[in-house]
Amino acid sequence: MLKAVIFDLDGTLTDCDLGMAKRRVCDQLVACGAGHEETVRRMEEIHYRFNVEGVYDRNQWWEEFDIDLTSSQKQHLTDLYWDSVTSTTFIKPYAESLLASLKSQVKLVLLTDYDGESHSKKRRINSLPLLHYFDLIVVAGEDTEQCKPSPEPYSFVLKKLNFPPATVLMVGDKPQVDLEGARALGLPTLLVEGEYGQYNPHVSSLEEAHQYIETLLTSPCGL
Ligand SMILES: [Mg+2]
Repeated sequence: MLKAVIFDLDGTLTDCDLGMAKRRVCDQLVACGAGHEETVRRMEEIHYRFNVEGVYDRNQWWEEFDIDLTSSQKQHLTDLYWDSVTSTTFIKPYAESLLASLKSQVKLVLLTDYDGESHSKKRRINSLPLLHYFDLIVVAGEDTEQCKPSPEPYSFVLKKLNFPPATVLMVGDKPQVDLEGARALGLPTLLVEGEYGQYNPHVSSLEEAHQYIETLLTSPCGL
């Protein structure tokens, strides 16, 4: 029997204009003397690779560019990046309906990774009008030592809920980060398709995720 659903946040329940964040940082790097084409190319490569590898601290990202930056310049770029993300973040269509519908049936958990040492994720998500739906909010890397896909954040959630793994569904948009670690611990998992590759089971929208979860809730055999 399904007792809880854990949702990832960025790219799963919310989205934002990452293109603008990347562009604004690239413009600054070019203004500091970096080559335009190489900077744009490297930004795309780093953005994908570090997201998949779970390297969250943007100050570390900027070290990958062929330009020497002081600590304060790196922090300035990091602030610019996250300000762009925060100002363009929106709640995906249907996310609130989904959470409102599930709230009376299961425990709801938000499990999101931190933004690295140089930025507070808690501050970034604080104003989101979604948080009241959740019974538990965990920022991995701040509330736990390790980020996803380490088993630690999932174990932390299971311990707080006191539910067996098989009764807790993990929903996310990154197979490597959100789902594989959860599956290794015995949690059922579901990919909401995004930019980070294939996985089974998967759905292409939150509406479809709702149908999938309802099937689990009404299945006579449970999970
Ligand atoms: Mg995500």
